[in-house]
Amino acid sequence: MKLDQLHSVLEKLADVHDANDIKCIIMLDDEHAIRTVLEYADMVRKRHAGDGILVRGIVELSNYCDRSCSYCGLNYFNKDIARYRMNFGEILNVVGQIRKCGIKTVVLQSGEDEKLNAHWLVEVIAEIKNRYDMAVTLSVGERSFDDYAVWKQAGADRYLLKIETANEDLYNELHPGMSFENRLECSRHLKALGYQNGNGILIGLKGQTVNELVNDILFFKREDFDMLGVGPFIPHNMTPLANEQSGDYQMYLKVLAVTRIVTGYPHLPATTAGEVASQDSGYRALKAGANVVMFDFTPEPYRSLYDIYPGKARQGTAPVDKIMKLKIAAEKMGRYVDYSRGDSIRVLEKVS
Ligand code: SAH
Repeated sequence: MKLDQLHSVLEKLADVHDANDIKCIIMLDDEHAIRTVLEYADMVRKRHAGDGILVRGIVELSNYCDRSCSYCGLNYFNKDIARYRMNFGEILNVVGQIRKCGIKTVVLQSGEDEKLNAHWLVEVIAEIKNRYDMAVTLSVGERSFDDYAVWKQAGADRYLLKIETANEDLYNELHPGMSFENRLECSRHLKALGYQNGNGILIGLKGQTVNELVNDILFFKREDFDMLGVGPFIPHNMTPLANEQSGDYQMYLKVLAVTRIVTGYPHLPATTAGEVASQDSGYRALKAGANVVMFDFTPEPYRSLYDIYPGKARQGTAPVDKIMKLKIAAEKMGRYVDYSRGDSIRVLEKVS
């Protein structure tokens, strides 16, 4: 594709979401052309989300998991890791540290732990809301409508539940004993309950082709999410996908960029998996459409035991140092660290 042609395709993409155009763009392999795509996404990011880089603090509550997702190190069949559940006091303590850093969103994440009691989590959410002026994002997997409802009532603001791949057959293949239909239904329940709704995919899954990625991006557009996490797959040696290749880093950046161009306003994190894969912590995703960074505040030994994929816990250094590094990186980009709650742009527009 010639460069002037590329520009007109990119311009068209925001209005007309043509599968062939999306495919052409994510298949580009010329360095100059790829740079043009990423820069265009950066411009779209600026138009919709401005120059602030939103920050979130994450606490990984529990690594117990009843599922067997074939890419994830927490899968039920991995008997090699010690399992933990953080208690109420430990969690509140970490949330206090996050708030002390000036961060106003906490993400509470865990494996799909059936023993994670819904009423216990109600109390955690209520106490966070009682003590701190903070947004609460949950990411604890597929649960009943009633669980989602009581958590919302207790004050939870947002929920992250990724579809991982929008291709039903591929989804079912990678998630034995789970169903695409149920995951989608959970996501729709979350939306109906008024959560700011997060979704996302993995790049480089076994059996995933460019066509699947095109469909994933169209799925994002169709379902209309508030947050979208795109990250490269990283193989974990205690999973059935141990011997597969990692997701391609360039492909990850291209899909992220096209996601921004096609969907416009959702908050897009520079995912931890993306940072681990880039190995240069240069936040390249932030120049390809992303506008959010999540810092892991989970204390040791739990952080190392939340072993979804290798290299994650090694994203070492204390969060305060990482925030400082982000501040420097942001300034270099002519941007800034944004400490506001960072609600969905759609929600903010409704309020104002
Ligand atoms: N149990 C929760 C949280 C899952 S962990 C849920 O089901 O929603 C959070 C995210 O880590 C997953 O959504 C997935 O996208 C990502 N992840 C899991 N294994 C991974 C791997 N091997 N490489 C990269 N990302 C992975």
